[in-house]
Amino acid sequence: MANRVPEPNPVVLQSDQLYQYILETSVYPRESEHLKQIRDATATHPAAFFGTAPDAGQLMAMLLKLVNAKKTIEVGVFTGYSLLLTALTIPDDGQIVAIDINREAYEIGLPIIQKAGVEHKIDFIQSPALPVLDKLLEDKDNEGAFDFAFVDADKGNYLNYHERLMKLVKVGGLLVYDNTLWGGTVAKPEESVPVYKRQWRKATIEFSKSITADHRVEISHVPSGDGVIICRRIC
Ligand code: SAM
Ligand code: CA
Repeated sequence: MANRVPEPNPVVLQSDQLYQYILETSVYPRESEHLKQIRDATATHPAAFFGTAPDAGQLMAMLLKLVNAKKTIEVGVFTGYSLLLTALTIPDDGQIVAIDINREAYEIGLPIIQKAGVEHKIDFIQSPALPVLDKLLEDKDNEGAFDFAFVDADKGNYLNYHERLMKLVKVGGLLVYDNTLWGGTVAKPEESVPVYKRQWRKATIEFSKSITADHRVEISHVPSGDGVIICRRIC
């Protein structure tokens, strides 16, 4: 293949000032009071960085609206930022199957979710996600029954989640994967990346390649937050 001239770099990711600009001009002024409260309640948690980036959250709310999502699945809840965002966005009779191995962090966000008046839309399941997705698939009625899925958990399982979610989410529905740029490490030489980040850097790169090769979905890889891959199921 002939060498191509690299595209000029329009990417804002590595500029703290530009990222702050996006948050302060477009995201924070529109963020609901309850979502702010979840961010504040999470700020002192040792894993506060787990919380979905607010700009990626804003994108996700837009996607939920665009597909009129009513029934959704969330893999990886933590204190509930993306969960509350989803619950606030879908209709009053919408439903979210929310899965996390840990309930402790969810308990931090739960009182805020209750105050926001959207707990009735949430079915929180404390479990590793794979067996829950497999269980859902035992019931044929669940095939294609979901409009939207958000995956934000163990990166090494993203492809396993994808295979199950491709059956649970309907044709035309969206599967959204978070942290697909893994702090920018995906574009750095492995040896320059801290050892503890290498395994999931590799898994993230492999996941992106597999998704790109998966012609059952249309994709867009968006540099929002820590990177988001949006897949639209087409068959
Ligand atoms: N979306 C969340 C938010 O907006 O705050 C953040 C999720 S956090 C990055 C990842 C979560 O995935 C953690 O709460 C962790 O307990 C959960 N997790 C990790 N491995 C899991 C697994 N195998 N099954 C289910 N949840 C898992
Ligand atoms: Ca995340």
